[in-house]
Amino acid sequence: MEEIPAAVQFVCGQLEQAGYSAYLVGGCVREMLRGGEVQDWDRTSDALPQKVLNLFSTEAFPTGLRHGTVTVKHQGLPVEITTYRVDGAYCDGRHPQQVTFTRSLAEDLRRRDFTVNAMAMDLRGNLTDLYHGQTDLRQGVIRCVGDPDSRFGEDALRILRGLRFASVMGFSIEEQTAASIHRNQSLLQQIAPERIRVEMDKLLCGRGAADVLLAYPDVLGVFLPEILPSVGFNQRNPHHCYTVWEHTARSVAAVPPERVLRWTMLLHDTGKPSCFSLDTSGVGHFYGHGKASTAMAVRCMERLRFDKKTAEQIKTLVDWHDRDIPRTEKSIRRALSRLGEEGLRQLIAVKRADNLAQHPDFRWVQNEITKAEGIMSSLLTREECFSLRQLAVDGNDMMMLGLRGKEVGTMLERIFKKVLDGTLPNEKDKLLQWTKEKGETDHV
Ligand code: ATP
Ligand code: MG
Repeated sequence: MEEIPAAVQFVCGQLEQAGYSAYLVGGCVREMLRGGEVQDWDRTSDALPQKVLNLFSTEAFPTGLRHGTVTVKHQGLPVEITTYRVDGAYCDGRHPQQVTFTRSLAEDLRRRDFTVNAMAMDLRGNLTDLYHGQTDLRQGVIRCVGDPDSRFGEDALRILRGLRFASVMGFSIEEQTAASIHRNQSLLQQIAPERIRVEMDKLLCGRGAADVLLAYPDVLGVFLPEILPSVGFNQRNPHHCYTVWEHTARSVAAVPPERVLRWTMLLHDTGKPSCFSLDTSGVGHFYGHGKASTAMAVRCMERLRFDKKTAEQIKTLVDWHDRDIPRTEKSIRRALSRLGEEGLRQLIAVKRADNLAQHPDFRWVQNEITKAEGIMSSLLTREECFSLRQLAVDGNDMMMLGLRGKEVGTMLERIFKKVLDGTLPNEKDKLLQWTKEKGETDHV
């Protein structure tokens, strides 16, 4: 079991000495019990916020008084304490209109979303588990506390939190809870896109992501309608033994759990259904689907308010996922200059995952990808030149040779192209020599 940090123990101890109760609650209890990594140590207490402020005086800060949260800073570590509370009526399926404090731990646990998140533990390790969270944790089940329809009706984000916890922990979703998730999916329309994206980031990186994607495309389709035509879409092509959606889900699971890569796989084939054609022998093709998917990915990412840098990375990877890059130094050098080292490494991971989610007869492609990776590594260790910055000559050298103004940049671009093609070595004296000769022939 993970050690409770000293600062957390101290703060809980002080509260108990002053005659209050103090419990660890929610995610940290769940993670301690399952041997996972604790993100934050949430505490709950019957002490009212004002009492906590008084007790810890200069160490206490009213960081979320409206929700009953006070932060105590002990030995530099922030420790959050939230007074037991009952959420008032929800008016919009997002925010409780008001919160009311209560003396009862049981009432505080009842407002929590899932049984595995509704356990409390005191400093001595005594567990309060009124909703059989431990059993569900052992059996790997996500189950609502109370009636699922009313819980999702109060706060629709819980629908996506449920899928997220199932994915991250590799749990299944209990039958009644699952049925209610499908039934209430449209409530997700009320949720801010930023909050949806944060949950999706975690969901996609979970170890159970493929299972969740396969079982709940209708739910994700509420905010990503672009994925829906892929569901059940037969590809009629020997490369593929899965529908577009099943291929997509498997490719997500086959790529390392980093958000850029996982989002890329989720969106990489969204354009396929609209590009489908059958040839005379009845084989399906998807000409131009890379471009179509890119356009759709851009729309999805705008809707979910992705930051510019991430959106740009994903867009490039979706755009390039189906381009053939010949396994030659020349073409890999070009790809490096267009994508950069990180970009090409990501593209290689994307291509691997795409292939792993295709018909097993085509696994030999992995060897070709390994070849490309080898060429990339050797180019990189030789510190070859993939950008103007790495060119062995610069603007000053050009000016020394008598070039001025626009000529400088134009000449550098010409040299760079030659180096990229492999027709000139990236060596200063050779490049200067070439420039001089070029300059002389240009002037005659
Ligand atoms: P993680 O920190 O890994 O995301 P967590 O379980 O700690 O997981 P938080 O969002 O930090 O999740 O919330 C802490 C606790 O607050 C949860 O464990 C749960 O008991 C409760 N909670 C959070 N959000 C909701 C919600 N929308 N509805 C009901 N209870 C919630
Ligand atoms: Mg948490």
